[in-house]
Amino acid sequence: TSLEDTLLAAIRTIPDYPKPGILFRDITTLLGNARAFRRAVDELVHPYAGTKIDKIAGIEARGFILGGAIAHQLSAGFIPIRKKGKLPHDTVRVAYSLEYGVDEMEMHKDAVKEGEKVILVDDLIATGGTAEGATRLLRQMGADIVAACFVIDLPDLGGRAKLEALGVEVRTLIA
Ligand code: 5GP
Repeated sequence: TSLEDTLLAAIRTIPDYPKPGILFRDITTLLGNARAFRRAVDELVHPYAGTKIDKIAGIEARGFILGGAIAHQLSAGFIPIRKKGKLPHDTVRVAYSLEYGVDEMEMHKDAVKEGEKVILVDDLIATGGTAEGATRLLRQMGADIVAACFVIDLPDLGGRAKLEALGVEVRTLIA
């Protein structure tokens, strides 16, 4: 079976979650499927295998699961990007836009050094507001963002175009 078919079959769609009218793409079924999880991770890292990547930055919370596996695969370190108030040491913080309103995310100030090569990871890109916020945090601390990787792209919501306009290479597996 093709990668796309394997991944599509492993993702569950939940209507009206978390609100009426929203079709939520649930990746817990993909994570629970050994073959689909491995293939998703292998395919996301494929272009970067053998290149020097210093850190993987994962966005809370599903980006931690994929990002941890990717960091191991690329022999890179891992940086958690978290909702505000969760990280114990000195942080940099950024406001980012949600579908309705804004929220804030944080990263430890010493999580990345100037010039380090970083890949940003999350499960899904929709409007791109979350990934744009993470990009701003990482760049503020001098990171060189090599790419942003997501299993799922919701292309109608424009997130990929938003990140590409910031000069970030975007890699996704299914739309
Ligand atoms: P954006 O900021 O691009 O509009 O939304 C992407 C963020 O919201 C990601 O952190 C992603 O995990 C979460 N998200 C939004 N919609 C979905 C969805 O349908 N399924 C999953 N798994 N995550 C979603």
